[in-house]
Amino acid sequence: FLLCQFGSNATAVSCITGVHEVIDSQQLERQLTEQFEQFKANDLTLNLTRGKPSSEQLDLSNALDGILQQNYATTDTDTRNYGGIDGLPTVKSLFSDILKTSTSELIIGGNSSLTLMHQTLMFAQFLGLFTDQVPWSQQTNTAKIICPVPGYDRHFSICTSLGIDMITVEMTPQGPDMDTVEQLVKKDASIKGIWNVPRFSNTTGITYSDAIVQRMAQLPKRAAASDFIIMWDNAYAIHSLKDNAMELASIDAFADAENTHNHIVQFASTSKVSFAGSGISALACGPETMAKFKQHLSASTIGPDKVNQLRHIALFGDFDGLTQHMKAHADILAPRFDCVLKALEQNLDNDTATWTTPNGGYFISLNTRPGLAKAVIEMCDQAGVQITPAGATFPYGNDPHNRNIRIAPSFASLEEIQGAMDVLITCIKLATVRQELNLI
Ligand code: PLP
Repeated sequence: FLLCQFGSNATAVSCITGVHEVIDSQQLERQLTEQFEQFKANDLTLNLTRGKPSSEQLDLSNALDGILQQNYATTDTDTRNYGGIDGLPTVKSLFSDILKTSTSELIIGGNSSLTLMHQTLMFAQFLGLFTDQVPWSQQTNTAKIICPVPGYDRHFSICTSLGIDMITVEMTPQGPDMDTVEQLVKKDASIKGIWNVPRFSNTTGITYSDAIVQRMAQLPKRAAASDFIIMWDNAYAIHSLKDNAMELASIDAFADAENTHNHIVQFASTSKVSFAGSGISALACGPETMAKFKQHLSASTIGPDKVNQLRHIALFGDFDGLTQHMKAHADILAPRFDCVLKALEQNLDNDTATWTTPNGGYFISLNTRPGLAKAVIEMCDQAGVQITPAGATFPYGNDPHNRNIRIAPSFASLEEIQGAMDVLITCIKLATVRQELNLI
């Protein structure tokens, strides 16, 4: 136990090495600095920022090219032509399996679900998304949205771009801290919604418990705002890394009981299933909200890219085919996650850093000791390893504890990940011991 004591005392015995060597902090700082300088001299260029599929994963869908062999027609649609704002029935059916929702409430979009999220909030803010409701921007107080943290930076960018304020609420291992969420929405009618990535959350990788999904489905009834939206970004709905990964309860099933369908808007896409830049997206919500959404949408488009929709059906067949395809993704991704987790487990103890061990998704979330994330990321940068900027996982770029680091292992090769982790671990240890010595 003595081995693990920290303090401002320069001669305190340290366990930052993770192998419990008895070594004093100053000596450790010197050793780690030497290692760090060595990394700097190695002229590395490694990158753990990119939460995108690797080329190997993209190759899994290469058959998309030419797959239709000029057979563009379904039984009732020539997909080359205009129209069909809802999307092809077969594609709606596929997304209803992905989202565990009813096809009558679904619409298929273009290549980006983020666009659908932006449109949803833009319509709510400026045009009105709910029947007989004044758009948020025309109400007395600025609209606010709850952002569970750490979270997805592009959700925050959407809010910023539309003039929506953000309120943070902590994530727990089961989902957002619902006691706080409920208290907040009950007393403030300018709080208009909440962001969610309910399965393999970006960035912690957790999946919401059934109880949290149920409370989320009840939230629109508890909210002071009658035009409250649950933004249910199920981007990683089918992105398990392990066969026994926890399932997400269907929010639709709970919404049936609560009659809150019109206030829950669900999103998914094939960005991390087929081609990230050329996939298809979907939105599901209650019938009245869908009617409003389509009314606004049809002012901007006659219909989505149905040829691409047909190509995806030709590639996957049905949901079983899709599930098999996702297993091939997991075979490529799981070793990359294991590489990161093994490096962390073997080299850091939980007094130095804590991290999540996701069973799916694209990210691992790591917390250093408070006050160190920026320093660690800066050091990594000096040593040639790019890590997502500190604060990116919080609204306004402000991590109040300056401790959260997002690790994205999907894109880099195993060798690159190993090299980047060596640097990251050294930088975490070095920043920790320097903080202990009051050097930062
Ligand atoms: N939602 C989450 C939670 C994501 O992590 C990402 C991409 O990283 C997206 C949405 C982007 O989705 P799309 O490519 O469908 O716009």
